[in-house]
Order: sequence, then C-alpha cells, then structure tokens
Amino acid sequence: MIEIKIDRDSIARNKNAGDRHIIVPRRPYLDEAGNRVQEYKWIWLIQPIPEFSYRYIPVTITCQYCEATFSSDALEDYAEEGDWYSAETARICPKCGNWECCDELSFESFSEEMIHDA
Ligand SMILES: [Zn+2]
Repeated sequence: MIEIKIDRDSIARNKNAGDRHIIVPRRPYLDEAGNRVQEYKWIWLIQPIPEFSYRYIPVTITCQYCEATFSSDALEDYAEEGDWYSAETARICPKCGNWECCDELSFESFSEEMIHDA
C-alpha cells in the first residue's frame, strides 16, 4: 500500500466555494489585426467547488498492467474535465490507459484539522 499524502502547504480556502463552474483561459491567439485575444471558457462541474482545495505530494508509482513508472501527478491529468479535484478516483495509466492501474494507492483524506498542522 502506497499512501499519497496531502501537501499541508497546498491547502487553501476556495473563494468560490459552492460554485458549480470554473472559468479557465483558452489558448490565446492573434486576430487579423495582430492583437492578442484571450478568451475564456466555462467548465461545469459534477460537484460544487469544495470549501478547501489541496494537492497531493507526488510519488513514483508503477502500473500493474504495463509496468510503466511515472509520477502520481500524471494520474490527475487524466481526471475527467470538470472534475478537477478527483485525484482520488482517477487511476488511469498515462502510458497504457488502463483504469485502476495502481490498486495499491491510498489517497489521504482531507480534514480541516490539517489546516492547524500547516
Ligand atoms: Zn500502464
């Protein structure tokens, strides 16, 4: 069992807690006049934004199917769009794409007491 710990320094209170969307920048582009254009898109969330957000301290893990080795951070990149804090459930191998690639992972659960530890 590999326990993936919450980085205490990363814990932050979300100003937009309870919202059901986030607004993210699109890749900027130049219009016909050569002006840089920055557009934004709304992403609707499966669950409302929680009161706190945090990150996990990455560890090196090995896929049980293809035996690729990668950082646990890479799992988050494959979380479903809009489900931005679902690292706990995203266990898709970035190399072979198998779901539940790393059964031995255990993600530490967040509790508000961690804030006082920080
Ligand atoms: Zn794999």
